[in-house]
Amino acid sequence: MSEDQFQDLLRRYYDPEKPETVAQLISAFSLDVIPSRFHTLLPPVILSDTCPYCEDIHLQRKPRTRAGYGGQEAFCPNCGHRDVPYCACPNCRARAAEARRRQEQAQRDLVHSCYSLAEWSVPEVDDLSLHLRLWARVLFTHAVSEDLRLALPYAARQ
Ligand SMILES: [Zn+2]
Ligand SMILES: [Zn+2]
Repeated sequence: MSEDQFQDLLRRYYDPEKPETVAQLISAFSLDVIPSRFHTLLPPVILSDTCPYCEDIHLQRKPRTRAGYGGQEAFCPNCGHRDVPYCACPNCRARAAEARRRQEQAQRDLVHSCYSLAEWSVPEVDDLSLHLRLWARVLFTHAVSEDLRLALPYAARQ
């Protein structure tokens, strides 16, 4: 079908007066399609927005049918991404997983920055009072194994 013929078909299909039924149009243009599938021949609406994942691929909408039905959702014809907050295409799932991973990493970094041993200043024994030295000695004896190879956290020995 030539472009002119196709435009003529569209004009007659979308004619608000609907002078011809879809079956008549199919017959007039010798189309190899059943009436209920006619809408698949309609050209998609190309939007100005591009896909966030595919370079230079414009989002589309399904064409409006004669009855006024049409996809309101914009989608990418290349990767299947849908322009909705709940899109679960592989790209969106990967992006969400990456965001989760970053958030967990940020939380881990925060914990490390608060509790990292490197941040603690360990006083010299000579700087401790006699009282604290005795305490340190008691804790050490309490926590360390007989052969001095293993030291458990104080809480684990309770
Ligand atoms: Zn895409
Ligand atoms: Zn998506």
